[in-house]
Amino acid sequence: MTEAEGVAIDTLGDWKRTHDCGSLRAEDVEQEAVLMGWVNNRRDLGQLIFIDLRDREGITQIVFDPQVNPEAHERAHVLRNEWVVAIQGEVARRLEGQENPNRATGAIEVRVTDVRILNRTEVPPFQVDGAVDASETLRLKHRYLELRRPSVFRNFRIRHRAAAEVRSFLNKRGFLEVETPFLTKSTPEGARDYLVPSRVNPGMFYALPQSPQLFKQLLMVSGFDRYYQIVRCFRDEDLRADRQPEFTQVDLEMSFVSEEDVIELHEGLMSTLFQEVLGRTLSLPFPRMTYQEAIDRFGTDRPDTRFGLEIQDMTAQAAESDFRVFRQVVEQGGAVKALCVPGQADGFSRKDLDGLGESVAEWGGKGLAWAKVAEDGWQSPIKKFFSDEQKEALNRSVGAEPGDLLLMVSDREPVALHVLGMLRLELARRLELVQDREPAFVWVTEFPLLDYDEDEGRLTAVHHPFTAPLEEDMPLLDTAPEKARARAYDLVLNGSEIGGGSVRIHRRDLQDRMFRVLGISSEEAQVKFGFFLEALRYGAPPHAGMALGFDRLVTIMAGAESIREVIAFPKTQRATCPLTDAPSPVDEQQLEELGLSLRSGAPGPSKDSA
Ligand code: ASP
Repeated sequence: MTEAEGVAIDTLGDWKRTHDCGSLRAEDVEQEAVLMGWVNNRRDLGQLIFIDLRDREGITQIVFDPQVNPEAHERAHVLRNEWVVAIQGEVARRLEGQENPNRATGAIEVRVTDVRILNRTEVPPFQVDGAVDASETLRLKHRYLELRRPSVFRNFRIRHRAAAEVRSFLNKRGFLEVETPFLTKSTPEGARDYLVPSRVNPGMFYALPQSPQLFKQLLMVSGFDRYYQIVRCFRDEDLRADRQPEFTQVDLEMSFVSEEDVIELHEGLMSTLFQEVLGRTLSLPFPRMTYQEAIDRFGTDRPDTRFGLEIQDMTAQAAESDFRVFRQVVEQGGAVKALCVPGQADGFSRKDLDGLGESVAEWGGKGLAWAKVAEDGWQSPIKKFFSDEQKEALNRSVGAEPGDLLLMVSDREPVALHVLGMLRLELARRLELVQDREPAFVWVTEFPLLDYDEDEGRLTAVHHPFTAPLEEDMPLLDTAPEKARARAYDLVLNGSEIGGGSVRIHRRDLQDRMFRVLGISSEEAQVKFGFFLEALRYGAPPHAGMALGFDRLVTIMAGAESIREVIAFPKTQRATCPLTDAPSPVDEQQLEELGLSLRSGAPGPSKDSA
């Protein structure tokens, strides 16, 4: 038996905690205090033993002095990091020069009069009080230990406060929180569903909701008027860095409103959240731009507007040059677009520019042309293809001054814009153009209603098929549906889409027409959404709504890097949970009850799972 294993573990008995580990200050000196928490670290100075006691609120320095209580001092010898202890003692001012100004409790310490050892620990797989050291898998496997880190816990306080503010804001405005089913039918957000087999209906499956979209619309048909829910959604997507298979939305729907009402409500909500949770005042209203404008200026529908470097069009000038590559692209109906990088003519070496050219190829572009603008012309591999007048005209039109760097891409217009949009972000990273400025919100409106899906060879809904077209574009549904714009809006923050929604179709005839445009037969629509289409026949009011990606919003509010940092028990990139080992095989009997059998080639059911 080790020394630690021999230590008697005390009960809490009648001890009551008087303070948490983050609250004692100089004003509390001479008070009696009972604190409980984990040993963050211990320093044995022979005569005196110090421990830093930690709980979620902070750290307090504790002193064991044999002159005060020799027995307690003796017991403190055995304490190790992460042991759970309760101490009773007197708050004392620290000796002069010993204060810790970086810690809220740094002016005081607690001199122990009695101690109770509440639990010991095995050596943790990684240090709780340390830099992020272990691999992600190990940290996720012992996530409960990682969550003990104050820097990690902090995100959950922000998340909690944000959720509480959302509720209080919406409650005050007449919204009702209503829960909607998890065991349901496929919903229309366009990702793959998670399926749940039904035991009592062998061969039948529920789908976990990708969002509560249809239910919240049904609640409007019911006359609930204003619904919200902070709700989990499930999408079986290939996980990109900022995705999780289950994530949380602040989902809401309102009746008898238009897009303006939804937009205004969310501006109020964001302003309250940032004020109450972070103490930051936002300026309202948020800027707006149409989808087309966002694509033209930033090459993306989620523009990061914290810095300039907007995309410029130089198609007309390129068409007049002698540069064959540009001219051909223009003759074939393509475009030539440019970024003017102020003051960076000397900022990029030949090698840097070649590197950027390689990135351009990775983003789907054919190549990158560049010109360093000087007083006496250009330094550029393509300078000879432009006359002096042409160069000057081009400089003027894109606002280039001597000392600037011009980066040019020619391609089909959407490709050129996408590539320069990516390049713009890369340059912002390299040139550190994003400073900690005011959060940059922007509404993107008038999204296209439909998009041509190359794989499926048909039009699909950009938002979802229940989104209303712009009134003025209604005739396009019959003539050129791909040109129709939607009454949809996205809220973008610092270049991330944090929410989106739309005014809905509330008339059955229009909904039928929409399905026809989407090439969904009435039989198919009936099978998939029949219940919903039927509801539209019984007096559905005009309604609109939106959903905020709560994890992403909190990530940005907390200044965290990834949404995994604001989810208590997140999944890995492979959608696994190292903590619980989910997903895992099930035994034969479970499959049998469900009327399922695994195809050969699939990993078999576990032999030993209980
Ligand atoms: N259900 C939509 C989504 O998850 C949001 C909405 O249209 O309200 O993106």
